[in-house]
Amino acid sequence: MTQRLVVIGGDAAGMTAASRAKRLRGDALDVVVLEQGRFTSYSACGIPYWVGGEVGSVDDLVVRSPEEHRRNGIDVRLDSRATGIDLDRCEVAVDGSDPVGFDQLLIATGATPIRPPLPGLDAPNVHGVQTLTDGARLIDGLSDEPGRAVVIGAGYIGIEMAEALVRRRYDVTVVDKGAQPMSTLDADLGALVAGAMEGLGIDVECDTAVESLDLDPAGRVTAVRAGGRSYPADLVVLGIGVRPAAEIAAEAGLPRGDRGGIRVNARMEVADGVYAAGDCVESWDRVAQRWVHVPLGTHANKQGLVAGLRIAGVDAEFPGILKTAISKVCDLEVARTGLGSDEAAELGYDVVAATIETTTQAGYMPDARPMTVKLLADRPTGRLLGAQFVGREGSAIRIDTCATALWAGLTVHEVMMSDLGYAPPFSSVWDPVQVAARKVVEQL
Ligand SMILES: Cc1cc2nc3c(=O)[nH]c(=O)nc-3n(C[C@H](O)[C@H](O)[C@H](O)COP(=O)(O)OP(=O)(O)OC[C@H]3O[C@@H](n4cnc5c(N)ncnc54)[C@H](O)[C@@H]3O)c2cc1C
Repeated sequence: MTQRLVVIGGDAAGMTAASRAKRLRGDALDVVVLEQGRFTSYSACGIPYWVGGEVGSVDDLVVRSPEEHRRNGIDVRLDSRATGIDLDRCEVAVDGSDPVGFDQLLIATGATPIRPPLPGLDAPNVHGVQTLTDGARLIDGLSDEPGRAVVIGAGYIGIEMAEALVRRRYDVTVVDKGAQPMSTLDADLGALVAGAMEGLGIDVECDTAVESLDLDPAGRVTAVRAGGRSYPADLVVLGIGVRPAAEIAAEAGLPRGDRGGIRVNARMEVADGVYAAGDCVESWDRVAQRWVHVPLGTHANKQGLVAGLRIAGVDAEFPGILKTAISKVCDLEVARTGLGSDEAAELGYDVVAATIETTTQAGYMPDARPMTVKLLADRPTGRLLGAQFVGREGSAIRIDTCATALWAGLTVHEVMMSDLGYAPPFSSVWDPVQVAARKVVEQL
């Protein structure tokens, strides 16, 4: 008998699962996707590059349109907001339509941007950047004349948006209540990011909490007041972070973890026949050995794949995460994986760390550019715990060497002796990762 899968949320996690389950089960499975917006399978990650003008049109950010999914037999329902889940009746309530019954359910509702409770935050020149609709609204609000922009929040989205606005000839101030940009980096590497952003003409104001917004009679923000100062603004962008969009699951009595995300097992199951994946769930941190909420597209896609396979009856598990992340602001690249110094100390590790200053290619090559590498290891075992990179082009992608080593549980000695490639246009004869590992080994 034909069964029905209902998916709530039509982006990375939801559509990956829907597509995989439909492909594997064909006519034996009806797949209904409820999406409250107008797009499916879009790249929110590309919004900063669209706003900055590097990506020409919104169509470039849509990986697969609703029509393409429908051609593959998936019943995509746009403008359809799920408002409740009845687990006893196996039904999802939908705003303005009849409830939809299910045999299996996937919750892939993503995350909700955090908005501080400040009067004026709904002004027309204050912008979130969570959805393509947000991006379109921000682009509509850009001026051809040079203007002043304040970005609230200096996480990776905040710094990517700072770059986008610099490209649009805005004078940009970034304010953050933390001590440095990119709080997932150690303070010494965060300071390098702040210094480099300032070198690009971006005003970086850390230890600066936003207090209020000044509004003109038309209700537009004219300045952001923060840390006792006033920062004039023609445009304000919010990049404060997100929280899991897990209310619909919690209201149905499904379990949530300490970080507010839906609590799943490795098969992405929440209850019998009910799955969840993506930014709405907590993930298992393989290094810290605890549940965390790390809203990234890399995890959403893999978790959606696991959920889709399980729904199709195929054995699959999501093995957890390392919190690997990579970003850039103009020509400065930033990357991190595993534990930072503070988290390692909090978890009780006796940490040995080494930081090296090196170059992206052999030092004598004309295009060699500066790069800083920091590695952390566990003193008793020598096991790699984490890595961080800040530098010019060619720096950040090296995080993948470290993430792979961390995934495999390698020691810094094993990292130092790994067979990595070398030619002068790519690195020195000892790869920067290995030079840093050697420094740690010397201390051990
Ligand atoms: C500006 C920006 C840049 C980013 N850059 C990167 C990057 O470089 N690398 C990276 O790994 N990640 C990046 N991310 C994060 C990445 O986009 C997310 O982790 C990923 O999109 C999560 O996928 P998801 O399917 O879980 O959730 P989402 O993409 O948020 O999709 C959830 C969908 O569910 C829908 N929905 C929610 N509630 C309901 C409801 N009740 N009924 C119906 N539909 C509902 C929403 O409309 C949405 O379409 C970025 C995010 C942003 C905003």
